[in-house]
Order: sequence, then C-alpha cells, then structure tokens
Amino acid sequence: QRPVPQATPESVADEVAAGRIRDELPPAIGYDAYRAAGGYRLLQDCVQGRRDVEAVLQAMDDAGLRGLGGAGFPAGRKWRIVRAEPAPRLMAVNIDEGEPGTFKDRHYLERDPHRFLEGMLVAAWAVGVEAVYIYLRDEYHGCRGLLQAELARLQADPPVPLPRIELRRGAGAYICGEESAMIESIEGKRGMPRLRPPYVAQAGLFGRPTLEHNFETLYWVREILERGPQWFASHGRHGRRGLRSFSVSGRVRRPGVHLAPAGITLRELIDEHCGGMAEGHELYAYLPGGASGGILPARLADLPLDFDTLQPHGCFIGSAAIIVLSQHDRAVDAARNLMRFFEDESCGQCTPCRVGTAKARRLIEQERWDVALLTQLSQVMRDASICGLGQAAPNPIDCVLKYFAHELEPAA
Ligand code: SF4
Repeated sequence: QRPVPQATPESVADEVAAGRIRDELPPAIGYDAYRAAGGYRLLQDCVQGRRDVEAVLQAMDDAGLRGLGGAGFPAGRKWRIVRAEPAPRLMAVNIDEGEPGTFKDRHYLERDPHRFLEGMLVAAWAVGVEAVYIYLRDEYHGCRGLLQAELARLQADPPVPLPRIELRRGAGAYICGEESAMIESIEGKRGMPRLRPPYVAQAGLFGRPTLEHNFETLYWVREILERGPQWFASHGRHGRRGLRSFSVSGRVRRPGVHLAPAGITLRELIDEHCGGMAEGHELYAYLPGGASGGILPARLADLPLDFDTLQPHGCFIGSAAIIVLSQHDRAVDAARNLMRFFEDESCGQCTPCRVGTAKARRLIEQERWDVALLTQLSQVMRDASICGLGQAAPNPIDCVLKYFAHELEPAA
C-alpha cells in the first residue's frame, strides 16, 4: 500500500495561502444587517395579513421541500398536519446535528442565523404555534453564543409580536437527534425515543401537537417564499428536484459543505464541487448518509444521491453526510468503527439494539466473520428495534457482506 499523505502545519498554511481553504469564518450576518437587507419583511407580510396561510402552504407543497434532518418528510404536508391538530400547538427545532460527518446546519447557522430564525417564525405563524423550543448541540459552543446574542437582539426589537422562544442545550447524546428522544430531553427527561403512535405531530412536547423540524429545512423557507417554489424545484438532476447541502469529508481535495442539485451523483459531486479526489487517492467506497446510511463501492458512484434513490442498494442519504474512502481505507475498518459508535450511543431502552450492537461489535472484530449469525442478528435488529438507530445499525455490516466480501478473505 502507498503511504497516506498526512496534513502538516506547513501544508495547511500553503493551502490557506493559495486560497484553497479558509482559516477563518466570514462574520455572521447580524440582526441589523439582516434587516437592512430586507430581512423579516416576509415575516411581517405573513403576520400583518399580506400573505395568506393557504398560499404559503401551497408554495411549500409546490417547492417539494422535504425534511433535511434525514427523514425527508414533505415539509408542507407536515405543516398542514400539525395545523389541523387542536391548539395549543408547539414547535421543536432540531439543531443537534449528531450524525457523524454532518456539519451543514452549523455551516449555515454560523453565517446567517436570522435566515433560519425567519423561516422558523414563518412556520410558527403558518401552523399557529404558541412556543418554540430550539434544541442545540452542546458541542456547538460558538453557535450557542451567536444564537443567544442574535435571539436577544431579535427579541429586543421584534419586527412582529413573537411567540415564546426557548434555547435548550443538548448533552452530547446521538440519540437525541431522533425527534421523540429530543422531545423527551427538552422536557427534562432522559433522551429515549418514544413508541409511536401517537406521533409527535399529535402528542409531542408536553403532550401537545408539535411541529418538529431540522434547522436546514427552515433555513430554506424564506428563499422559497420570496423566489417562488419553482426556483427551488427547478434545481435537481437525474429526475430529482430541489437542492441539497452535502457535508463532504474524507479523501477529496475540497471537503466542506457543498450546495448541489438533488440527485447529483457522487462522481459528479467530487468532480464538480470537491476539486476531485485528494492527491494519491482513488475512489474506493463512500458512505452516502453518515454513520447510518451504509457503505457503497466505487462502482456505484453514478447513483443519484437523494431520498429514496439508494434504498434498493441497502443504503440511504439521510442528512447528506458523504464520507469518501480511497484505496488506503477498508470498508471493514469503517464498519468496525461505526459499530463501536452505535454500541456507545444506543440508549439501551430495547434489547435488540442494546444487546445487538454489542454482540455485532464483538462478532465483526473477529478476523473471520460468522456470516450466518451476523445475517440473523441484522434481521432481528432491523425488525425489532424501537427506533432508527437499532434498525440502521446493521447497515455497515450488511454492506460489507454485500459489496466488500473480498476484504474478509484471508490473505493468500
Ligand atoms: Fe434506544 Fe436503540 Fe432501542 Fe433506539 S433502537 S430505542 S437507540 S435501544
């Protein structure tokens, strides 16, 4: 094997000097600058009666915006469902961003917090919510300071009467990115997913109907309503519609958040947005959806990356966290790493996941895999786990068995 090039302080400094990477963030757009550039006029139009709720809901439907936290539920339909439930209704915003490889919410929050806040308040108006709870990842210290300061500015000089807004800190648990575990955590309980039904839209926070959204879904609301739903829907490739923010990491020249058409393939994404593969690396495999979305081989790099397109191959895109592996990496090592992660992060509530992740981790750490036992275990975890963590945890194992079995063969 060729040695893996290591980043040294000198090489990073060279990259910065050449303008290929930035060593500091652009300053966030603050409240005054956001308003001076026309911010919060959309919200004023909504609240002051110049926009009609039904027209806004129709625009969200027409744009085809889907939940960008990973589940992909159509946003407009979700607004209608919660709006039809009895008041008081609440809202919970998920900025836990715990999926390994995902950093798009942070990217936008650090740059343009009010674009998100305006989208959040428009959604709150359309659905008629009484209070909004924002759940922020504990590790995002800088974002917390920024959001606290900008919320204070907004609340001190509100463009319209605001609902109650509370900012809550997570405590570093991956499972609290699952909507019902997040709601338990906001309520002050241990973050464990709930059994459904009832769904969060019917009985969520404090037992009330709750509109739950990922940060980025709300970030796009203003663009969609000001530019028109066709603007958003007109993007897309290979028969898909809309835009996706891909968090790309791994063996590419320019990792980072890349806004690209929904349905772009991995090969196109690397070539057009990431500057190609890093020097000395050839594409070997990729994780299309962070830890949970499985592992695909290079020969499947021409699949459209979007909701629903990867399922036939045993994978999914989730929050669009793309991790690129090269000939210097092994899918087996990635699977072992991921299973240690799932074992650590299992909330322990249900046996198939609590015991299954530990058992799977022990089994795949062996040099020779017991394929029959692992196949049975995967099936049980998929069928009987309460939430997506336990259901998706076997994905890396199944992908290794399906696409990378050659890595398990003893060296000749
Ligand atoms: Fe908890 Fe895992 Fe069961 Fe989900 S599947 S409820 S994380 S034990």
